Amino acid sequence: MQFHLNGFRAGDPAIAEPLDLARRGADGVREVDVLLVGCGPAGLTLAAQLASLPGIDVAIVEQKAGPLTIGQADGIACRSMEMFEAFGFAERVLKEACWVNETAFWNADPVRPEHIVRGRCIQDTEDDLSEMPHVILNQARVHDFFLELMANSPSRLAPDYARRLLSLDIDAARHERDAAASHPVTARLECLDDARRGATETLRARYVVGCDGARSTVREALGGVLRGDSANQAWGVMDVLAVSDFPDLRRKAVVHSASHGSVLIIPREGGYMVRMYIELDKLAPSERVAHRKLTPEHLVAAAQRILHPYTLSVKEVAWWSVYEIGQRLCDSFDNAAAPGMGAYPRAFIVGDACHTHSPKAGQGMNVSMADSFNLGWKLGAVLQGRALPDILASYSDERRAVAQELIDFDREFARMFSTRPRQAAGEHAPAPDPALFQAYFIKHGRFTAGTAVHYPPSLIVARGEHQPLARGQTIGMRFHSAPVVRVADARPLELGHVLKADGRWRVLIFADAAPVADAASAVGALCAFLAASATSPLIRHTPTGADIDSVIDVRAVYQASHRDIELAQLPPLLLPHKGRLGLCDYEKAFCADGRGGRDIFELRGIDRARGCMVVVRPDQYVAHVLPLQAHEELAAFFARFMRRVGD
Ligand code: FAD
Repeated sequence: MQFHLNGFRAGDPAIAEPLDLARRGADGVREVDVLLVGCGPAGLTLAAQLASLPGIDVAIVEQKAGPLTIGQADGIACRSMEMFEAFGFAERVLKEACWVNETAFWNADPVRPEHIVRGRCIQDTEDDLSEMPHVILNQARVHDFFLELMANSPSRLAPDYARRLLSLDIDAARHERDAAASHPVTARLECLDDARRGATETLRARYVVGCDGARSTVREALGGVLRGDSANQAWGVMDVLAVSDFPDLRRKAVVHSASHGSVLIIPREGGYMVRMYIELDKLAPSERVAHRKLTPEHLVAAAQRILHPYTLSVKEVAWWSVYEIGQRLCDSFDNAAAPGMGAYPRAFIVGDACHTHSPKAGQGMNVSMADSFNLGWKLGAVLQGRALPDILASYSDERRAVAQELIDFDREFARMFSTRPRQAAGEHAPAPDPALFQAYFIKHGRFTAGTAVHYPPSLIVARGEHQPLARGQTIGMRFHSAPVVRVADARPLELGHVLKADGRWRVLIFADAAPVADAASAVGALCAFLAASATSPLIRHTPTGADIDSVIDVRAVYQASHRDIELAQLPPLLLPHKGRLGLCDYEKAFCADGRGGRDIFELRGIDRARGCMVVVRPDQYVAHVLPLQAHEELAAFFARFMRRVGD
């Protein structure tokens, strides 16, 4: 973490200096850059991202009276942990969460089918999939971390609780191509707090994002519909403190009994609590799960039947819920196709508002947060005047394809998970082959870890002509971190951890084999171009007077040992002087970590002879791989979607 750049400040460096952004229109109505509706994981990720970008005024409204305290989702995939690292709170999650290390598969004993027996036990996440583990932590704690980031941001952003969105109007006539010009979105909110109950408030915004869950009012206002299977699969979920002789209460376990159904066991943070997902009977077409009048006692009894011959004595039910869910998807995640929008959206939906699926694969919170991480930097770059609004359409294109894939996966996974007898018909559903189920689970490990997402070529993702220069950093996929050593202070660290959620692009230079001191080397020439050429993307797109790394942050990784590099040998661009005091930033140059098996060039398939540039988006996805000499190609890539200073 870097701080004191603009002078010494005592106290917690995570708390930024406050900045008053509140604005009102001529008629006294509050006007914001972005209105976010809903404080689930999707809304809070987006709020935290936008709050970290200077000068963007955000309002986030939530119908509930205050923050979530218990329940809902708990699975945090490796990719989400990587994102938490970018936001700066992964360490706190690592400390508090329960780590999922192995998954055990239990099935009916072929000899005594009324008993369950353990089958295989597998490593949960394959080696080197991510530097981060798969962990379990209550969704409410994840909300807390995001809320803290927002409260510490310059705008001191806090949700407006007890405010329900009633209606949304987007005035196409006021929608102009210049994002800075108008506030075409008008929202009407109902006050639900005691002080103002029944009153309505109006708010205007440049953009609105519906983060308001499966029954989204924003989606409805945009005319969007969730299509797919109706929500007729009922689920019971409970967080319990229990005493049991079942041996895998502290290991993730998938249990298929012969005739009593299935349970998914998730050990929870703190060492004692356990979550159990119990698949209930299918509901009739018009039936709601509430009609079943289920109680926690029903869920406990079902779990006891499935776990036979093991015992389960529940001492306390901390939280429970029964809910119904279907695999459904919205046609578009924005309003670009609405009349008058000109394919340039003003409204978006994220998370459960645009896709729903079962909780079995633990994707609800993860995919919702990833939607927001994808959208946040794009909105921020347009509002800050750095990028053309044309990049906004890529949100729906990229994330809808991911959601479609998730739904296809979930449908198949749900089918394989289900072994319940069809009691009404008095017959048994075909039981899946346990080996097939396990194979499917393993095969899709990368998908459930969130690391398999692959965005296609677009305005902001290049085609892969130069991909062989960095075979392990796939264009369109997230930057795959590996260890490096920082030159200036010999600190070992993960290179991916320098990619913060601060809205900046990164150009990561992987050096060829030339000596570091050779100013005429490919790295030396590239840095000289970037620092001074009129066509350099740094010169073209960095506002006058701003630090040279404030829009595009250039870092380099050398093949030599840090002990063989003198700071004075580095190109000046890698030791930039910044801030009010012109202090030197010593954190731009790294070396491969020479300790056995940790060399980033080897681990990520980087061409040692030729080196390369890896261009990384603000959401950590690889946008381009280029030869070190491809100066103009790099400039042309950024010119596709970034505004030139002075335009
Ligand atoms: P949500 O978390 O649903 O957040 C939407 C927010 O918008 C809510 O806070 C809501 O109050 C607010 N809102 C809605 N309408 C308005 C309005 N008009 N005005 C203002 N605010 C509004 N997933 C799992 O993996 N495992 C689970 O066990 C599990 N249990 C769940 C239990 C419940 C009761 C629910 C609702 C969801 C559960 N999920 C579970 C799903 C998981 O929580 C979601 O996938 C995830 O929270 C999606 O995040 P989101 O931010 O898109 O939406």
